[in-house]
This record gives sequence, C-alpha cells and structure tokens, in this order.
Amino acid sequence: MGKNWFTIKKLYTNIWGIGEFNHSEKVISYLFVGENQALLFDTGLGIADIKQVVDKLTSLPVLVINSHHHWDHIGGNKAFSRLLRPLEDKIINIEPFELMVITTPGHTPDSICLYEKEKGLLFSGDTFYPGSIYLHFRESNLKDYKKTIKRLVKLDINWIFPGHNSFKCKPEVLHQIKNKLSAAFNDADNIKINRKVYLKLI
Ligand SMILES: [Zn+2]
Repeated sequence: MGKNWFTIKKLYTNIWGIGEFNHSEKVISYLFVGENQALLFDTGLGIADIKQVVDKLTSLPVLVINSHHHWDHIGGNKAFSRLLRPLEDKIINIEPFELMVITTPGHTPDSICLYEKEKGLLFSGDTFYPGSIYLHFRESNLKDYKKTIKRLVKLDINWIFPGHNSFKCKPEVLHQIKNKLSAAFNDADNIKINRKVYLKLI
C-alpha cells in the first residue's frame, strides 16, 4: 500500500481530488490549496496515509473538515491536528476560495456540503454521488433529504464534486433527484421500503 493507493487528480486550479478507487467504497476527499493555508474536505478510509499525499501537494498548514461522521470519510483525521467544526453558513476562507458550509441533513443529520459561490462549485460529500444514495440508515431522514435537495437545486452550480465514485458531475443530476424524490413521496410503498433498501435515485 502507499503511493499507488490514491488517485490524485487536479480538478480546478489549486483543487485536487484524492480518490481511493481500489476500495469498493471508491471514496473521494478534496484538497483546496490557498495562498496561506489549505483545506482538506474529508480524509478518506484511513487504510493508507492520506497525509503523505497532502504533504506532497502542499507545504501550507492544513485544516480539515468532514462532510459527515461516517468511517469512510474520517479515516485519516487522526493524522491532522486542526479539525474544523461544521457550522451552518460559515465561510471558510482559503484564498482565493470562499467555501460556505451548507448543512445538508438526510444521509446523516450532520451532513454538510461546501459551496464555492463565485465559481459555482459544490462539494457534496454523501448528499450526492453518482450511484445509489444511502438513505436507509437509522439516522437517515428522507424528509430532511428532500428539503436538502430542494435547497441545493436553487444554488448556482457549474460542477458537483461528490464524495464517492466520480470526481465530478454536472449539476442537472440534482434536478433528477428532486423529481425522483417527488415521485417517491407520491408513492407510499416507495417510502415504506426506504428503511430496508437503498433509494436508487440515479
Ligand atoms: Zn456516509
């Protein structure tokens, strides 16, 4: 294990995707390299040392914020000393990026997205990724998720950078999800099975 574990991709000027595609979770963390500090959005599985990768990409001090508390997104947290608390509407200034914390309950109560308004970039964690969205956990809440998606579709988004499977997606997928959720809410059976199966949205 080691340097080949991670797939590193430059997604935007000074934004890197760090994927772990050799694992079935195919989780992705994101690194923003600003002028004076860097921000890591999620720390991955913790199987290989993500800090080594981050250290190669930047020598600046690194802040960490997690999309939510699930194991596959916090695995490398222990390697970093500066963990940010995700507060609603907080702007994390990693010049030239102004990343707004948007609380997006649904998959979990503590889920957040990061939104770079000026550039129209949404870092969606597990609130959206291409694949079956897991909304069946005891802590998941489909009604909250519906509200969250309604809120996200109102944002001006050019690209979505999800927490699993693919480095970037077009924003139209959020509208697809919104429509499928509306259909699901009109179909009582669909809601009932929500606790037992993954809601296949895409
Ligand atoms: Zn999760």
